[in-house]
Amino acid sequence: MNVLVINAGSSSVKYQLFDMTNETVMAKGKVERIGMETAMLTHEPAGKLEIREVSEILDHTTAIRKVLRILTDPKEGVLRSLHDVHAVGHRVVHGGETFSGSVRIDEGVKQEIKRLFDLAPLHNPGALTGILAVEANLPHITQVAAFDTAFHQTMPPVSFRYPIPSVFYKKHRVRRYGFHGTSHQYVSGRVSELSGRPLDQMKMITCHIGNGASVTAIMNGKSFDTSMGLTPLEGLMMGTRSGDIDPAIVPFAMDKEDLSLNEVNSMLNRHSGLFAVSGGLGDMREIIEAAQEGDRNAQLAFDMYEYRLRKYIGAYAAAMNGFDALVFTAGVGENSALLRKTVCDRLSFLGVKLDDEANERRTGDDRIVSAADSRIEVWVIPTNEELMIARDTFREAVNETMQPST
Ligand code: ADP
Repeated sequence: MNVLVINAGSSSVKYQLFDMTNETVMAKGKVERIGMETAMLTHEPAGKLEIREVSEILDHTTAIRKVLRILTDPKEGVLRSLHDVHAVGHRVVHGGETFSGSVRIDEGVKQEIKRLFDLAPLHNPGALTGILAVEANLPHITQVAAFDTAFHQTMPPVSFRYPIPSVFYKKHRVRRYGFHGTSHQYVSGRVSELSGRPLDQMKMITCHIGNGASVTAIMNGKSFDTSMGLTPLEGLMMGTRSGDIDPAIVPFAMDKEDLSLNEVNSMLNRHSGLFAVSGGLGDMREIIEAAQEGDRNAQLAFDMYEYRLRKYIGAYAAAMNGFDALVFTAGVGENSALLRKTVCDRLSFLGVKLDDEANERRTGDDRIVSAADSRIEVWVIPTNEELMIARDTFREAVNETMQPST
């Protein structure tokens, strides 16, 4: 069975086509700048050269049509016909309290994704547009939605409620939802497989640190607490997002700088974090290079990023009364030996001890980087959210074919 995984944003569609008989990627790519005359399709068929095409693509339906066309192209494609796409899985950012796992998409699911627009105004509309665009091109195909929030639905109220008047929870659904759930779930599952210890007997702290960043406390395979909240703004300091700040800064800044709601939102989401502290660098690689060349602001940005991450790890160690494994994933977590070393060396009181050579090795594989006598295992696991979505989609599609017809 072949599963197409789609991650649709407001102006882009990313895709990966999986052959689920061996979970290999047959092709992947993206369409960017949808809505413009200069939209670009980048297509990477496995084992062949990457192809780029610039053309006018004004909407998501056209973008998906282009993707399906190139997947079935006699020369550049990897499928004989559209009949060889058997199911489609979508990444949907917000599933609210409704979805605690992936679901087959029907009218009710689409309505619910729409009802959640006000909780994820930047993300859910793009995902729904992607779902409708697939439907327009492949009207009878099984579609499955996988939610970034779903894994965190196991959090208890002590973690997910905010200490503000309950009307905000009851009427407006204001609570901690958490994000990157597919990634936290995937890497924790891999660590359990690789260490040979059942998930339900492990406590882990998983650090998904890329441009967006979050930490999760996973107790016995279930999300117990996570650093992102109602929105992906809370928690760690990120590329351009502030993470935790005193909430009183918001009305204060609005008053002093005469900012509108949109402006203060944009200030915290797009002009803060590493970008703000370093004075214009949002990318961790550039920050580390600049810091090594003596740039003090870049050094401060790195130090704050590391410090805030380490404080969360300490908090979650306390929240779970200890932990067995610390896991790093996503752009910074997978690639920055320096960040991992700085964090781990300062957690020695918890029994964290790195194997420096293993930590420095650049393999791109799943690997343990703690020393043999470390009380806590430290792992680097490249995340694979698309594979998780493909697995869920495959499972739902197989279940569907096994149900008796009415
Ligand atoms: P996104 O949240 O956009 O998916 P990624 O997970 O791709 O982000 O992470 C992007 C971040 O990873 C960037 O800040 C980038 O600088 C950082 N990164 C990638 N490689 C390295 C590296 N070798 N050292 C430090 N940071 C890195």
